[in-house]
Amino acid sequence: MSPKTKSAYTVPKLKDFSTNALHKALIEAKLAFSEELLNANSDAAWKVFRDRWMARKNGVLTQINDLWLKTAPKENKREAGQLVNELKQFVEQEISRARGFVDGGAAELAVGLERLDITLPGDRRALGAEHPVIKTMNEIVGVFRNLGYSVEEGPEIETDYYNFEALNFPPNHPARDTQDTLFIANQEAKPLRERLLLRTHTSPVQIRSMEKMKPPVRVVCPGKVHRNDAPDATHSPIFHQVEGLAVDTNITFCDLKGTLDHAMKALFGSSVKTRFYPSFFPFTEPSADVQISCIFCGGKGYRDGGPCRNCKASGWIELLGCGMVDPNVYGFVDYDAKRVSGFAFGMGVERIAILKYGVDDIQLFFNGDVRFLEQFG
Ligand SMILES: [Zn+2]
Repeated sequence: MSPKTKSAYTVPKLKDFSTNALHKALIEAKLAFSEELLNANSDAAWKVFRDRWMARKNGVLTQINDLWLKTAPKENKREAGQLVNELKQFVEQEISRARGFVDGGAAELAVGLERLDITLPGDRRALGAEHPVIKTMNEIVGVFRNLGYSVEEGPEIETDYYNFEALNFPPNHPARDTQDTLFIANQEAKPLRERLLLRTHTSPVQIRSMEKMKPPVRVVCPGKVHRNDAPDATHSPIFHQVEGLAVDTNITFCDLKGTLDHAMKALFGSSVKTRFYPSFFPFTEPSADVQISCIFCGGKGYRDGGPCRNCKASGWIELLGCGMVDPNVYGFVDYDAKRVSGFAFGMGVERIAILKYGVDDIQLFFNGDVRFLEQFG
């Protein structure tokens, strides 16, 4: 009987699961497979053949698994399993071997299946880009690294002690209110200074750094901070800060001014001017806000024949806070306030990114819209 007229192999249901019966079934299946392999002598026939045996849904191997293994009585299961595995390996091996042969119909066809069309366009993988906030943060950190500062990081979940107390915040300071700060729930039983919260600034890292090292200290602390703010165009419950701290003997307000003036010029261009005017922070005394000359109107207060929107026609933009470290803070970290002095400063990374890139809504940084982000690639 020629193979072409013989009816196609169908997986028999087994009633007898004895060793002999299983082996007979296995040999029949192998023979049927080999015969069909030889007859798969066209592109289309090879595909049909391969799918007939390998298809996960209703392929011959799947059927064999269902009809021989799943229905086998407990005592024959082990042997049936071994045979089914053997057949599976045999079929997979022969199919991949048929592809590898140089001669033989199936092999040529298999090569045909894998032929490369070099005129097809390749798969393009879009390049990722640094997020504008991270990019800006790295740029700021880079400016201070060049001045000899080292980088320190700390936990985002802080204790009240590090976030407020050691930074000289009085117990009734409004920042400690839940309206401003996100506290971890159910901690009323703990003493105030041990209660956990999401840090509202990166200043706790300054305290941790001073606990770790003795003066001279020069560190920048980049990181994520949290406030109990509803998101809108200028507010976000999460944002980023870079703070800096320098403590040594004989550090004066002049050093602070020179350092920040240099940093602003490095970030916004050498024509940018800075000015300082009095402010208040619990952990610095005296404290100052720093403004830079408006980068949109060049400090003139007007542009395109009208008042400048960005600086509200004042010619200045408020950018960061700073000051000389309050001597009380040294008491918390065991520094001799009579011998050392230092300054600290802090800036919002998003605020600087908004100015640098002309973004008008802080939410764009966090929405994850690729159309926005890819502009910074
Ligand atoms: Zn302006």
